[in-house]
Amino acid sequence: MSEAYRTNNWWVSPFNFLPEVRQQIGQLPARVRIHDATLRDGEQTPGVVFRKDEKVEIAKLLDDLGVDRIEVALPAVSDEDVEATKAVAALGLRAKTYVLVRATKADIDLAADCGVDGVILEMPAGVPRLTYQFPTWTEQTVIDKALSGITQAKSRGLAVTLFPMDLSRADPAFAERLFAAVAAHPDQPDGFAVVDTTGSMLPEACGYLTRRIREVIGCEVEIHTHNDFQLGVATPLAAVAAGATVVHCSVGGIGERTGNTALDEVVVALKVLYGVETSIACEKLTSVTARVLELAGFHHAVSKPMVGERTFTRESGMGLDLVKEQPLALFALNPAFLGQTAGYVLGKKSGIASIEMKMADLGLATVDEAACKKLLQEVKRVGTEKKGLVTDAEFLELYATVVGKH
Ligand SMILES: [Zn+2]
Repeated sequence: MSEAYRTNNWWVSPFNFLPEVRQQIGQLPARVRIHDATLRDGEQTPGVVFRKDEKVEIAKLLDDLGVDRIEVALPAVSDEDVEATKAVAALGLRAKTYVLVRATKADIDLAADCGVDGVILEMPAGVPRLTYQFPTWTEQTVIDKALSGITQAKSRGLAVTLFPMDLSRADPAFAERLFAAVAAHPDQPDGFAVVDTTGSMLPEACGYLTRRIREVIGCEVEIHTHNDFQLGVATPLAAVAAGATVVHCSVGGIGERTGNTALDEVVVALKVLYGVETSIACEKLTSVTARVLELAGFHHAVSKPMVGERTFTRESGMGLDLVKEQPLALFALNPAFLGQTAGYVLGKKSGIASIEMKMADLGLATVDEAACKKLLQEVKRVGTEKKGLVTDAEFLELYATVVGKH
């Protein structure tokens, strides 16, 4: 049986697909593109540094994963970033390569000299940033820099995404003036990003801005947000429903503070909940995330959605036989769909099924019912005493005590 809400890979709520609900969502595109910012915005995670060879390795992994665009660096940061950008651009990847630039001729020339396909053209737009970080800038400065930056980048053959930093905290009247000025400019950007630098925008507000940019400028709309209100997936979903066709994200959601939109989470939500495709190979998400986080020296929660170490692990003994045989009875997603395996652990909440499964997995001889119950009692006792899980080594010891030599 395969319906939108139920395939071999997932079984989610059928209510998601009721006509009354789909009508509220709006007109969804068939497919969106994934702009991965792990190597730039992800690297802004405090303490995270990717060396040149690591950026090359990650870029290859991202390309193999299927991302459409890779933001390699802000080359102006360091010579190593320049070298890393040149090295990634020279790989001849299927993914397009981008760098972040400020709206200066020097930054744009440097990007072009690195051989990348496009630039994320940044200028401040939010009131807090303009007031306190760029006090000498007027609104007209922002508009002038945006327009001249577009023209300069276009003249160097670069694709341009206009990226007004902190746009979500801009004066709404100024945002309209910026949109109108861009619309009237002879050189058009390829994309305009709704930039929610502080992750403080409601999904509905993001949808509104997306629609306004499409109406006034007519270029592609991209969404870049952060996870400060745990809306790092909800906001991009709303943007896509309003017509955005490029989603910015990072592997595992790494980034400043609470991080960027997590690539794994937004891709799976788009595909499974909305039916919007990307070119990501979902079965590679777990391994790619693990390797990137290893290089970042960064650990996410074991319960992280999609790719956490225990996202598909159960301690409860109830229904445990289903974990391997019918995972969709217990989970919305088939672990194999994400390159995960369903697991179980022993502890206070184990049941007889847990004990039987563990004995089989460890190749131990089966025992009678009384011994099995005794083993379960012992597992519960150890789990309670240590306030944690019972390891395989501990279980083997208990088995030896209860059953004898094995
Ligand atoms: Zn950001």
